[in-house]
Amino acid sequence: MSQIFNNPTANQTLFLSVRDVAHIVAQVGMPQVLARMAGCIQADYLRWGDFDKVARVAAHSPEGVIELMPIADAHTYTFKYVNGHPKNTRVGLPTVMAFGVLADVDTGAPLLLSELTLTTALRTAAMSAVAARALARPGSTTMALIGNGAQAEFQALAFQHLLGIQEISLFDTDPAATRKLLHNLRASGLRLVACDSIAQAVRGADIVTTVTADKTNATILTPDLLEPGMHINGVGGDCPGKTELHPDVLRQSAVFVQYEPQTRVEGDLQNLPADFAVTELWQVLAGHAPGRTSAGQITVFDSVGFALEDFSALRYLRDTAAELGLGQRLSLVPTLNDPKDLFELLRPVAAPLALAA
Ligand code: NAD
Repeated sequence: MSQIFNNPTANQTLFLSVRDVAHIVAQVGMPQVLARMAGCIQADYLRWGDFDKVARVAAHSPEGVIELMPIADAHTYTFKYVNGHPKNTRVGLPTVMAFGVLADVDTGAPLLLSELTLTTALRTAAMSAVAARALARPGSTTMALIGNGAQAEFQALAFQHLLGIQEISLFDTDPAATRKLLHNLRASGLRLVACDSIAQAVRGADIVTTVTADKTNATILTPDLLEPGMHINGVGGDCPGKTELHPDVLRQSAVFVQYEPQTRVEGDLQNLPADFAVTELWQVLAGHAPGRTSAGQITVFDSVGFALEDFSALRYLRDTAAELGLGQRLSLVPTLNDPKDLFELLRPVAAPLALAA
């Protein structure tokens, strides 16, 4: 009998479903999941030089984009498949959907196949918090959250639990999205204030998070809305022709990015000349470059989502699923008695039945 039948776990891939990841959040608790993902991201950013990095590969269409995001260190390779289709919500689909793989570099064996839609929201929020801890004014307690869609609750909770934000002013062009957020976070302990305009939401905020979705060069934030000392966490501008910040907002700020070659093409930075100076965040985290240099300075994290955060998230999921005994084993690649005999998989497996007949 083939080894694949008597050794069901050999060379098999662990599969984590959306339900499994939701179970991790329920078991571990949202504050701890965000804190641990932020810890993984911070630790991996401090190993920046260990990674084989490349800007993600994007396939653009009139309504959206589908992207592949690969990265590897000496031991582990990961990739994420992710889309961005702002009009999807009109047909009952999320704007962003994702899944990914973690593989062993020495053998190429895929060890983990996981949902990454929920995980992208968690890791994006954790990444925002890692950046804000390095760039926002210490003691920040108020945030404006512009765009109250799928990512928004995760951003709110990361800033509450990892930064100490207590009050969040909300604005979305779709009032139903804001109502959904108010409902979802009603027991969070955050003071949540629905606003009638971006200007009202942003006034007096220590931190401004923009996480809107529209395939256009939007100007969610204009220079007249800036206040001394603000930290801007620009999350929604992440694709050519899809930005949120007026170029003068960046010109008046110190701008920090994940991986410069990718952000030049995808971030709000795409609207500025190629020689506009920015700092890669890892340099700040490693102490090689200054972050905020004065209380009055305006800082921008021009977030686009980089493969390293998904690497961090996937290794967190792998380890946590092992601790909690979650997931299902899949025969995604074959287990063979003779690794040169792939053809053995095609030999009839019903021989005993045939003999019996
Ligand atoms: P979503 O479609 O669920 O929500 C977006 C919300 O933005 C909607 O409620 C919409 O009404 C609102 N909106 C659109 N235009 C607006 C405007 N001018 N003013 C105020 N609100 C406006 O999308 P989502 O999953 O929450 O993602 C939001 C954005 O974040 C997308 O653009 C997505 O591509 C991006 N994103 C970035 C990262 C990253 O790592 N940087 C990760 C995930 C998602």
